[in-house]
Amino acid sequence: MSIEIISTGNEIMAGLTLDTNFNWAASLLTSKGITVGYHTSVSDNKDHLISSFKIASKRAKAVIVTGGLGPTEDDLSSISASEFLSSELVFNQQVHNSICEKLKSRGREPNENHKKQAMFPEAAETIENKVGTAWGFKFEVDGTWFYFLPGVPREFKPMFTEMVLPELESALDKNEATSSKMLKTFGLGESEVARRLSGLKLDGVDLGYRLKFPEVHLRLVTSGNSEPEVEKKFHSSIDLISGELGEYLFSTDEKTLEEATAELLLKKKITIATAESCTGGLLASRLTDIPGSSAYFLRGVITYSNEAKVEMLRVSEKDLGKYGAVSSQVVEQMAEEVRKLSGSDIGIGISGIAGPGGGTPAKPVGTVYIGFSHKDKGVFSKKYNFQGLRFEIKTISSSAAIDLVRKFCLNDV
Ligand code: ATP
Ligand code: MG
Repeated sequence: MSIEIISTGNEIMAGLTLDTNFNWAASLLTSKGITVGYHTSVSDNKDHLISSFKIASKRAKAVIVTGGLGPTEDDLSSISASEFLSSELVFNQQVHNSICEKLKSRGREPNENHKKQAMFPEAAETIENKVGTAWGFKFEVDGTWFYFLPGVPREFKPMFTEMVLPELESALDKNEATSSKMLKTFGLGESEVARRLSGLKLDGVDLGYRLKFPEVHLRLVTSGNSEPEVEKKFHSSIDLISGELGEYLFSTDEKTLEEATAELLLKKKITIATAESCTGGLLASRLTDIPGSSAYFLRGVITYSNEAKVEMLRVSEKDLGKYGAVSSQVVEQMAEEVRKLSGSDIGIGISGIAGPGGGTPAKPVGTVYIGFSHKDKGVFSKKYNFQGLRFEIKTISSSAAIDLVRKFCLNDV
């Protein structure tokens, strides 16, 4: 079943209004396993509107039109629908009464223009607007359902959720069950993920990629005659994908990287402390975003200056001078010392150059060291060469640190 969304309005065509209704409705439909096959934007022009309805009726099973239901001259959805349907506009007294009541309750007087908002194609059924005065309507043409809804988002959204979505879902249920699943990876580029998965034969499952910086997400969509059949298809596809991606795959159930990591820390009763420089506390913040984080997170310090690194973490002044604050020597000392100070199992140290200034040929912007210390297994560090804006480097650095902890937990027996 293919859905088309038609966004109307000169403001949209002029680039003045961002088409958030489309964005919102499409992601909601997608999350319900309903595919949006087409998206059209049309200006406030009767001929253009009618022609877009004609095209949509030939290719879509359901069409959602947003905008153009207001009382003004440029609101042409109803008249265009009427001509498209060859069904006269008729006055609906009940709707008009309701509009008048709503206006009066707000201290406004109804005027002639509001009568226009009570005119609908004779063949259409009205859709109540509980928020504003622009009622919607719906009708069927040659097996395609059309839903006309207002453009104002706070009116469009409840009407769509309450009156349109349930109908689309039940129309879908009659035929087959469709569902989607999100898989999340960290540590590989989009093209590398695609390369690894390119040979896979996923039985009737569509695979889509989405870069959700700094992660790469995969969306699986499939349909079948029943829920269990769909679940079975997902299950075998995830097995295959997981076989190719291994530890880079961290979530198959919407979990964030920190949630997936926290779950492992809790399960294995591992505690952690952090010492941050370039991430400025972002790592500690993300690790404590999860309720119950006090069970694994013991302490975090932000040692931004060299003095702070020396005073709080006893980093060697000699090493700071010789190797610089952004070095394996320094992050390893940070990780060791914060672990010892807090008595945790793991200590993490991060230092890097977030930019845009401060880079050198030897250590360009994006050079980041992460130190990892474990109470029994010693200490090591990794060097990264990230790219991007300051906030991106801070984000990906904190993700890389969380991911190091996650992978350690996975392999810690
Ligand atoms: P109104 O009664 O306000 O005239 P309407 O149904 O006729 O409602 P439009 O005139 O098309 O809707 O748009 C009204 C306002 O709603 C626009 O000025 C814009 O701010 C917002 N809007 C319209 N379409 C969209 C859209 N697709 N996404 C987000 N906002 C929109
Ligand atoms: Mg309008």
